[in-house]
Amino acid sequence: MKTAILYTPLFLEHRPGRRHPESPKRLEAIMAYVRRSGILNSESCVLVEPKRQSLEDVLLVHDEEYVRFIERRCRMGGGPVDMGDTFVSPRSFDVAVRAVGASITAVDMVLEGSCRNAFVLCRPPGHHAGVDYACGFCLFNNVASATMHLLRRRGLRRVLIVDLDAHHGNGTQEIFYRTGDVLYVSLHQNPQTFPGAGFSWQVGEGDGEGYTVNIPLPQSTGDTVYLTALEWIVEPIAKQYRPEFILASVGLDVHHRDPIGRLGLTAWGQLAAIKKVLRLAEELCSGRFVAVLEGGYNLKFVAMMVTADISAMAGLTPKLWDTQPLNLHAIKAKGWKVLKEVRKIQSAYWSL
Ligand SMILES: [Zn+2]
Repeated sequence: MKTAILYTPLFLEHRPGRRHPESPKRLEAIMAYVRRSGILNSESCVLVEPKRQSLEDVLLVHDEEYVRFIERRCRMGGGPVDMGDTFVSPRSFDVAVRAVGASITAVDMVLEGSCRNAFVLCRPPGHHAGVDYACGFCLFNNVASATMHLLRRRGLRRVLIVDLDAHHGNGTQEIFYRTGDVLYVSLHQNPQTFPGAGFSWQVGEGDGEGYTVNIPLPQSTGDTVYLTALEWIVEPIAKQYRPEFILASVGLDVHHRDPIGRLGLTAWGQLAAIKKVLRLAEELCSGRFVAVLEGGYNLKFVAMMVTADISAMAGLTPKLWDTQPLNLHAIKAKGWKVLKEVRKIQSAYWSL
């Protein structure tokens, strides 16, 4: 069985502005790199053009009034849709609906066994978008929509979302904060200034208490602490939760050369993180795994890292190069402290 890469040129038609970091150039660079790498000529990968375009899919998660607001804003020529840096262009609505459709197509393909696993190369990203608001370049929440589809329409009861973007996925957390049907785990940089959610004490509420795991890491955390967080916290909790499906929000802004993210990972570290989550999927849910693109703004590294991630998913040998970032001992000490604190908080719900 093959690894499916879901992509359509329609994803280039969301244009938030000439100087905006979340630019169509990101996907152009990724697709050029994927094609040059030769993985599409292998027996292990297949390129799939997603066609699914349904408002019902978006309404699985989002408030209708908000969805209509985005649609109207686009029909009127575009502009800002939040108080910050999220903008739409005339075709953004159609693109964002298709990104949701692509994510749902991907989980369906994996569930039905028509591919081994899948990477959704979509824009705009989704994990900051809440039920009724746009945020952080995101319009509709792709990962949350695919998860809701698995729960409501496919009858799954335990879905694990691992958020590996440099920023906390405040939208995804909020959508599933009061349910145990979804375990939301996020590794991210200090969320104080943005997005203002993702603190270690935020563990879910009501039926969802204990099903949100936040690991807020210090600036320049680096590979060692990041990967240890996966080993010490994410792996044992995931094994106890026994998910039926794993989705990952993959943000390449974790890289040390990213202009926005501040976690200081190397390309090798990011790949190792994906491999760990892949291994969990193989061990816990017959390899059912879908990755969805979130952030990542250094075009050169984003393209290379995504291609390496897809190669690993397809069982091919990833090709990577990188330089070593500065990683001071003092910063590591801060990171270990966070891991210990999160383990202490989460040990109220999981044996750690
Ligand atoms: Zn991000």
